[in-house]
Amino acid sequence: MRLDSIEQFALDRDALDPLAGFRDRFLVPRDGDGREWAYFCGNSLGLQPRAVRDAIAHELRCWSELAVEGHFKGDLPWMHYHEFVRDDMALVAGALPSEVVAMNSLTANLHFLMVSFYRPTKQRPAILIEAGAFPSDRYAVESQIRFHGFDPSTDLIELEADEPGGTISDAAIAAAIAQHGERLALVLMPGVQYRTGQLFDIAAITAQAQGVGAIAGFDLAHAFANAPLRLHDWGVDFAAWCHYKYGNSGPGAVAGAFVHERHAGAEFPRFAGWWGSDKDTRFRMGPHFQPTVGAEGWQLSNPPILALAPLRVSLQLFREAGMERLREKSVALTGWLAEQVESRLDDVLDIVTPREPSRRGAQLSLRVRDGRDAGRSLFDWLTARGVIGDWREPDVIRISPAPLYNRYSDVLRFLDATAAWRDARRPA
Ligand SMILES: *Cc1c(COP(=O)(O)O)cnc(C)c1O
Repeated sequence: MRLDSIEQFALDRDALDPLAGFRDRFLVPRDGDGREWAYFCGNSLGLQPRAVRDAIAHELRCWSELAVEGHFKGDLPWMHYHEFVRDDMALVAGALPSEVVAMNSLTANLHFLMVSFYRPTKQRPAILIEAGAFPSDRYAVESQIRFHGFDPSTDLIELEADEPGGTISDAAIAAAIAQHGERLALVLMPGVQYRTGQLFDIAAITAQAQGVGAIAGFDLAHAFANAPLRLHDWGVDFAAWCHYKYGNSGPGAVAGAFVHERHAGAEFPRFAGWWGSDKDTRFRMGPHFQPTVGAEGWQLSNPPILALAPLRVSLQLFREAGMERLREKSVALTGWLAEQVESRLDDVLDIVTPREPSRRGAQLSLRVRDGRDAGRSLFDWLTARGVIGDWREPDVIRISPAPLYNRYSDVLRFLDATAAWRDARRPA
């Protein structure tokens, strides 16, 4: 294909995109020349929806005009505020509204959920995670294992990659769960692995883990609002995620948690706080904790309203756009990126992320063939040209076209800039 016909293709696809209008609902940063960035970093921090500013301003106004009465008055009384984000969060997670709650931060939620769901015994003390897990997750599980008096050197099982580039086959996961089955208390896997971009088969892992008597928990930091999720139908025991990545809810946004309905009424060890206590009796201020049935029973504190306001309006966009349409565009857009990298940039870039659309979300992890220094050089070149991905040590560039706001013409800018870098380094 000649370059101009590629450009025509990108423009045509953008013109035909039924979701194209959503880009205008976001604030896209610009470079010094006033040109919008080609922003591929929604896997790290999603762009700001335009509606966020007003949503926060609204709560500031309620605070100034109603003060303490804002808990009960106004169109969005703070007392119930976490419920105003619940249904959209449930939709994105493929959960029942009673199975999800917005609270805390991601790592905190992993800990609080492990308090309930990681209950090691002498016979069954182990946690299985993927090797090279996000450091916070590894710190969390390691410290949980120690907290219970067990030994991470034997009881933290880290599943090594078995595929070229560092991804893990379904067979290797199944084999590890079968091999360690009797010792496994918890399998805690990502939905999408942050470095490789691999999307795991959450339904299969859940069934395998539960099949050996273990709990199936997931960190969905990179999967929430990116990959199709059916947490309820898949029978996942618990999950946690953040909302500042594909969820576009702002830096340090309030996180999410999922607890399957079948655990709703059960007795759990948990670290309790008043906001997890039954709504009907909470304000009697009695001494006994009576958990709210469902995920809300894991709440500790009254929620940060100014931080939940962005979440409320950001998640509404997913309902409006529709998760199926978003996934359809995502598969096509990232598929086009992959196809073009393979046909135009094969001499420079290796794709780390699996090639099957069912095994990836929006993100492609790319490794520059000439090694780490060349990788840094390309990354800096792209950044200087307003093409914003991110760099993950030791040698990966992540490019994540987010279907809510990215266009084919953004992807084309990445392709062209990378080709220009190659040509500048290796004059013909
Ligand atoms: C982004 C991310 C985190 C970040 O944790 P916070 O508690 O939100 O700071 C943790 N784990 C994974 C897998 C992530 O991708």
